[in-house]
Amino acid sequence: MKLMDAHGRTISYLRLSVTDRCNLRCSYCMPEAGIAKSPHADILRFEELEQIAEIAVSLGIEKVRITGGEPLVRKGIVPFLGRISAIHGLNHLVLTTNGIRLAELAADLADAGVQRLNVSLDSLRPDTFRAITRGGELAAVLRGVDAAVAVGLPHPKLNMVVMKGVNDGEIVDFALLARERGCTVRFIEYMPAGRVEGWRERFLPGEEIYHRIASRFDLLPSGDGGTAGPAKGYRFCDAPGGIGIISAVSGHFCAGCNRIRVTARGIARSCLFADDALDLKPLLREGNRDDVAAALRRFVLTKPGHHRMTPGEAHHTPFTMAGIGG
Ligand code: SAM
Ligand code: SF4
Repeated sequence: MKLMDAHGRTISYLRLSVTDRCNLRCSYCMPEAGIAKSPHADILRFEELEQIAEIAVSLGIEKVRITGGEPLVRKGIVPFLGRISAIHGLNHLVLTTNGIRLAELAADLADAGVQRLNVSLDSLRPDTFRAITRGGELAAVLRGVDAAVAVGLPHPKLNMVVMKGVNDGEIVDFALLARERGCTVRFIEYMPAGRVEGWRERFLPGEEIYHRIASRFDLLPSGDGGTAGPAKGYRFCDAPGGIGIISAVSGHFCAGCNRIRVTARGIARSCLFADDALDLKPLLREGNRDDVAAALRRFVLTKPGHHRMTPGEAHHTPFTMAGIGG
């Protein structure tokens, strides 16, 4: 079965957030003080999150990414992942993490059936990393990445949010890291989720990121398709590894968008930068799966054809990325 939106796009990818809590406070994602603690009853129980994943897969979702907040801080995450990976018809179970708890959990994640990890890593300099994450320890993340490889997972994709004047001086260092490790580094345009003052000055377009790397190394399009999502992929002509550029703001990849999101509070979102949302919680708690499935199917039809954001203009209601899952 295929889940189609009103623009003829097949929706095959669910980003499922399991918490809005986090053990870091990245400046581009969360306010320094964190976000207000949600009442316990507002957060979906694991069984409810599982039901959403099962229903989504029955409708045609093939890939589920577990995200947050930081998914590895939620108690019970490993057995939950084991149950998600057992869902009949799910082809890809992947997870995005900041890597802080990865060294201790990598083996459990692999055993639970997680197939691949994305690890957020915005600087290779301990001080800059600490400043961006407001206290994070770079070495812990690097240990986590190595632990994932040691337990037999594919090398995590490393996600760097590029911010002018903060970490853009490290773009080439990250490309070098991709070559040394033979892994993929994805450079993500800084998105003005919270529309904080000065976001335009911090923004560096994907095109510029590409040129900075292409002026140092010969690149070829890698032809990644399928579930790779909005990243434009390139490989190095003379070395293993590759890069991805995610031009979430300046790019026009909406035509190929295949995703929906559900937050830890059970709110379905059809597009990060559209304000429409559907609260699945009451339907889930009434216990009628068919109603949840029908509501999700109808909701997918409301997915906008494209977002209206540009590098100079944002129209959405400000939000905290950790509350949605990136
Ligand atoms: N805590 C996990 C992590 O950091 O990987 C998962 C949740 S985080 C919200 C998911 C992704 O969203 C991360 O790769 C993060 O870098 C990205 N993200 C958060 N805020 C962003 C922003 N303002 N612009 C671009 N990417 C952002
Ligand atoms: Fe936490 Fe991830 Fe947001 Fe950083 S990007 S504050 S690690 S949820």
